[in-house]
Amino acid sequence: MSASAGLLEPSASVGGCADAPVLRERGQREVFCGLTGIVWLHRKMQDAFFLVVGSRTCAHLIQSAAGVMIFAEPRFATAIMEEKDLAGLTDTNDELDRVVDRLLARRPDIKLLFLVGSCPSEVIKLDLSRAAGRLSEKHSPNVRVLNYSGSGIETTFTQGEDACLAALVPQMAAAPANAEQTLLIVGALPDVVEDQFRRLFAAMGIQRVEALPARRISDLPSVGPNTRFLLAQPFLGDTARALEDRGAVRLDALFPFGAEGTTDWLHAAAVAFGVDEMTFRTVVAPGRERATRALEKVRARLEGKSIFFFPDSQLEVPLARFLSRELGMIPLEVGTPYLHRTHLAKELPLLPSSTRLSEGQDVDRQLDRCRDARPDLSVCGLGLANPLEMEGLTTKWSIELVFSPVHGFDQAADLAELFARPMNRRDRLSDAIV
Ligand code: SF4
Repeated sequence: MSASAGLLEPSASVGGCADAPVLRERGQREVFCGLTGIVWLHRKMQDAFFLVVGSRTCAHLIQSAAGVMIFAEPRFATAIMEEKDLAGLTDTNDELDRVVDRLLARRPDIKLLFLVGSCPSEVIKLDLSRAAGRLSEKHSPNVRVLNYSGSGIETTFTQGEDACLAALVPQMAAAPANAEQTLLIVGALPDVVEDQFRRLFAAMGIQRVEALPARRISDLPSVGPNTRFLLAQPFLGDTARALEDRGAVRLDALFPFGAEGTTDWLHAAAVAFGVDEMTFRTVVAPGRERATRALEKVRARLEGKSIFFFPDSQLEVPLARFLSRELGMIPLEVGTPYLHRTHLAKELPLLPSSTRLSEGQDVDRQLDRCRDARPDLSVCGLGLANPLEMEGLTTKWSIELVFSPVHGFDQAADLAELFARPMNRRDRLSDAIV
């Protein structure tokens, strides 16, 4: 591999799916809404609280999606809005204020409160941004109150994180024009993974590294023209735009999945911060070799197997690149809710040119194509998995890919295992039936 070529095979830097036609689907959708993001965001932001302003359905979703966290001190709740006509809205605002007052009086540990909008019509009638402004003023300086939408009408499940982080950007202080160049990691990574990346950057000599979201609101970094940011997730389009509006510069890179993606992601920072090539290679070599060796063990089980991605998390393109280039899988169709060509500019040329790309969803047509293709593995939402399994197709829940630590060198084999496991299960079941 050539470091000067951004660590990609030179022959692979053109072609692939860079200019491939995209099948645009605008039909019925089968995905979770953006409220789901609260499940991983509340673990990351340790002094934040997420108050969903929604219906009993929203409360049910949050409770079942976050059921695993039952023993944790809850940092999310639902304020259930009953149906009201427009005349009742003043009462609703008063009621919301009372709920927030009670919550903050009971929980002085909360420093950042998100009012999270949802899609019931009685919530849509409420102006949550105005409510957040009013409540922020009332509870300042102890608590900041922000709002974003997790509504299923506007967001798919990973877009909830995008909306949440975009709401944080205006809260970031302006870095002075002569501030030292800072690297900002954007996307809610598990702390252990964020720390691994920080150690690698420190070993390269990049000392000023910040993260969005920060673990505590008091650590929210400043932003300005000397901020260089790396997206850790491909679904942060609005957040990236908000940061760019504040003068920050996005570093173009593969997403940090697998040995290749992680190396390229780290390399983009190394180039931007003037790290010499020798130092960069010395720092990444051990992790990269560990990842490559660990992936070899999983490769035997995945090589030559075909895979079909339903549009769900927006992680589909980088994951398909990782599975095809590092594990020898064959992506038949890669569907994504939204194809961000700029952020995926380095990813798309690395997909096999035979891959069909689709954007948006028309679930019945996609199910038909999947049935025709009979892939070895289908990656889809929970609602589609059971029917496909009933038809003899092996599935992987895409939501697990967001809940599990999958970024970086040390998680590369765990990420590959997530795809190997359903096929192992299917093989064991077939053996048992025989
Ligand atoms: Fe359902 Fe909408 Fe509530 Fe999401 S926000 S749980 S889609 S009602």
